[in-house]
Amino acid sequence: MIRRSLQGLRVVLVEPSHPGNIGAAARAMKVMGLRQLVLVKPRFFPDPEATALASGAEDILASAQVCADLDTALQGCHKVYGTSARDRRIHWPVSTAREAAGEILADLGNGDCALLFGRERTGLTNAELDRCQVLVHIPTAEEYHSLNLGQAVQVLAYELHLAALVLRPPQTAPVVREKPAPAEEMEGFYGHLQQVLRCTGFFQPVRETRLMRRLRRLFDRAAPSQNEVNILRGMLTEMTRWATKVDKKDQDSL
Ligand code: SAH
Repeated sequence: MIRRSLQGLRVVLVEPSHPGNIGAAARAMKVMGLRQLVLVKPRFFPDPEATALASGAEDILASAQVCADLDTALQGCHKVYGTSARDRRIHWPVSTAREAAGEILADLGNGDCALLFGRERTGLTNAELDRCQVLVHIPTAEEYHSLNLGQAVQVLAYELHLAALVLRPPQTAPVVREKPAPAEEMEGFYGHLQQVLRCTGFFQPVRETRLMRRLRRLFDRAAPSQNEVNILRGMLTEMTRWATKVDKKDQDSL
């Protein structure tokens, strides 16, 4: 029952450099009933140090998926959580590890989710955090925020396990709504939106990244379904077609 409720969760390690941390993460996951480990461009993998630290969780390593990029790692996920040791200047919705565990469990009811961990030295880049709808922070002492990667995975895995243990079926009937579109469809939409907005001259060059980030926040909050994404993209396509027609008419009348 516990395992089933956490089954759709991918733990994604982005460019881990120490194989020992991969092993420690696998062990941290296994003891808490998490199974899907995804590695984006690991520096060394497989590696004897990873196997040594997995100690009993070799099966998690053996079934780990190794990806060349984040897009592949997130394929099919409808919600992405990113962990961060730092307060970021950009405003993402932030949850503590405990709050996030409850939210993730609820989101898993709608399909696969991903929990991202960053590089040992530099964490996740802003571009990678752009792919996350929620930022997760493990509360720490004021003077030092940064846990070891394997230990950060352990804290989150523990919170998820605990949340799954106390999980009760909802008292009221859940509201039936369409599942949110997966990450790759949202990326397709954001790419399309950016391209159309760029053509209209909406962006002043320096503000493009910042505006796109705000638009991502806006649409991520709405969590549109696949059908809704199709409608949005259909609108963009029609607007482009219309603008081209108007442009041509203007030119013809010259
Ligand atoms: N210097 C890096 C720290 C990286 S620690 C930075 O400032 O981001 C490696 C990874 O462990 C982080 O990317 C994050 O995924 C996780 N981690 C470490 N401490 C954390 C904390 N307090 N809350 C959430 N995640 C944390």
